[in-house]
Amino acid sequence: MSDKQQMLRNLPKVDDCLAHTHIKQLLISTSRSIVLKAIRSTIEMNRHAVLEGRLNLPEQLAIDIVISQVINEIKKLDRMNLRPTINATGVVLHTNLGRAPLAETVGDAIWQVAKGYSTLEYNTDTGQRGSRYDHIDQILTDLTGTEAAMVVNNNAAAVILVLSTLAKGKEVIVSRGELVEIGGSFRVPEIMTQSGATLVEIGTTNKTHFRDYEQAVNPDMTGALLKVHTSNYRIVGFTQDVALSDLAKISREKNIPLVHDLGCGLLCDLAPWGLQDEALVVDSVKAGADIVCFSGDKLLGGPQAGIIVGKKKYIDAMKKHPLTRAFRIDKLTLSALEATLRIYYDQERAMNEIPVLKMLTQSAEDIAKKAGQLLKTIQTHQVNGDLKCVVGQSQVGGGSMPTQVMPTTLVELKSNVMSCQHIERQLRECTRPIIVRTFNDAIYFDVRTIDELDFETIAQAIHTLLNQ
Ligand SMILES: *Cc1c(COP(=O)(O)O)cnc(C)c1O
Repeated sequence: MSDKQQMLRNLPKVDDCLAHTHIKQLLISTSRSIVLKAIRSTIEMNRHAVLEGRLNLPEQLAIDIVISQVINEIKKLDRMNLRPTINATGVVLHTNLGRAPLAETVGDAIWQVAKGYSTLEYNTDTGQRGSRYDHIDQILTDLTGTEAAMVVNNNAAAVILVLSTLAKGKEVIVSRGELVEIGGSFRVPEIMTQSGATLVEIGTTNKTHFRDYEQAVNPDMTGALLKVHTSNYRIVGFTQDVALSDLAKISREKNIPLVHDLGCGLLCDLAPWGLQDEALVVDSVKAGADIVCFSGDKLLGGPQAGIIVGKKKYIDAMKKHPLTRAFRIDKLTLSALEATLRIYYDQERAMNEIPVLKMLTQSAEDIAKKAGQLLKTIQTHQVNGDLKCVVGQSQVGGGSMPTQVMPTTLVELKSNVMSCQHIERQLRECTRPIIVRTFNDAIYFDVRTIDELDFETIAQAIHTLLNQ
């Protein structure tokens, strides 16, 4: 018998694994189908490794090795795939990590609606069917100074709905400098095609003039003037674009709706904290935009949503559009959005309670103090590595304020026994993944985006990893 055949024989059978005390123990709390799946896939993985000559499995070790692999596999299969992470990158709106974390009070609002029946489409005044949009209509119009509002799944859907309602079969005029691509799949020209409107590009990449708009406008053919906020890039140097207030003049004169895709949609002024790159929704409205749309989960700090505010006649038409049903926001998101927006009635409260705003406006001194605390917590665990605080920069993220960097303090970790790639991977494979930055062969924790309550978890994870 060849070595390989002998080793295949040494591999435990499914029943051997099921009879093992550790597995029997696990079966009390884990469903049998998960355990079986883990056993089968582990045995299969080892079989392949043996056949390919990658594994040398001594008989006396086979069962112990396989059982410990099975237990690891069960842990992976039995936990949620979508689970909380610790964001140590300092990127506040990290799209891959779920963009905006929600305010504490919002969680309760979601759960109250989620666990039972709600007034989603029921009007308690009349006892008749109501509209899901009524719950946020008043709040949004109060906060933005507009006539009407509605919400869809995300801002990409909002833009399609707006263009399709106002300009299907017609032309939409956009400056060449504003033909943005956001996160790969949102590209203005493609969105335009999807909404059935024809894109009319005007000007050049760096300069677009008032006269370019004037010349392109055709009262019979133009469905809308669109201004797109260039969220994730800036054109600098020899540049020229036309202010929204100037576009509003053409819009009024020719009676063509002016749409502003704002992307971020700030409801609080962050200029006092040095964050001036993003426009406030109220400013767009004041400048004369008929329709403004923006994301719920960018700087607003709420759930994923596309918010549309503006003139009632246009919004009413959007509410009747068939796409609205397809882009319909669900009750969990709606409750999260309503609860988030309510906080904005008191701007000071918003600055203190909305995590995105809190993280963006932390002072450099507070962050330095926080970093010192993380450093101390890790040191308390006698971690086997070199630790220190260093200055660095955090980013806003989420395709916003691309040129804005915020000074921060990082905790740097270096090990002379483990590569930084290995540490990075181990931290991200934790049950609660810890996502860090690495460069120059070191690991960095940016405390701007870390909750103090998670310092202990981080310290323990590093200790377990480096002191094993
Ligand atoms: C982010 C962004 C979008 C897309 O918004 P989502 O909510 O991610 O769908 C559209 N337009 C602009 C200008 C943006 O910045």
